Amino acid sequence: MKAVNEIRIQIPALSVNEGSCRALVGAFCAQADPNLEELADIKCSVSEAVTNCIVHAYGGRGGMIYITVGLYEDRQIRIEIRDRGCGIADVAAAMQPLFTTDRSGERSGMGFSVMENFMSRLSVSSTVGRGTRVVMWKKLS
Ligand code: ATP
Ligand code: MG
Repeated sequence: MKAVNEIRIQIPALSVNEGSCRALVGAFCAQADPNLEELADIKCSVSEAVTNCIVHAYGGRGGMIYITVGLYEDRQIRIEIRDRGCGIADVAAAMQPLFTTDRSGERSGMGFSVMENFMSRLSVSSTVGRGTRVVMWKKLS
């Protein structure tokens, strides 16, 4: 399947850039006229995935985040968020609600659950030492 329209964003994994990622993806998706709830779901899921790149993949030390957003036939939106960070040893375990490797007590282990609930489809692939790829689809009404 080929995208009808697509944008690619490459942005440093800094927490100041989380808002930009959210806004840029939201602005691109707006052309498909999502309703407010759908747009909020998309932006929230992007925030979760981008935050994971910043805090987990690169441990706050920077690196690049690669985002591709595609608009497909049938009002489907595909969002890919990729990093070249530490990777995840056990993806299935990491995706369980409340699973977190965070020791600071700041994180609740709900990021993947949010993405899973807010989007139509979620797939995560990862290689330790190489990085992680999160692909989310949203079917607009
Ligand atoms: P919360 O998102 O609620 O603040 P969290 O980030 O720990 O907490 P999830 O987003 O569900 O929860 O992620 C679960 C775990 O998966 C993380 O604690 C981390 O160990 C791992 N993880 C998630 N994304 C990445 C990533 N891009 N690179 C490396 N590890 C990741
Ligand atoms: Mg998270």
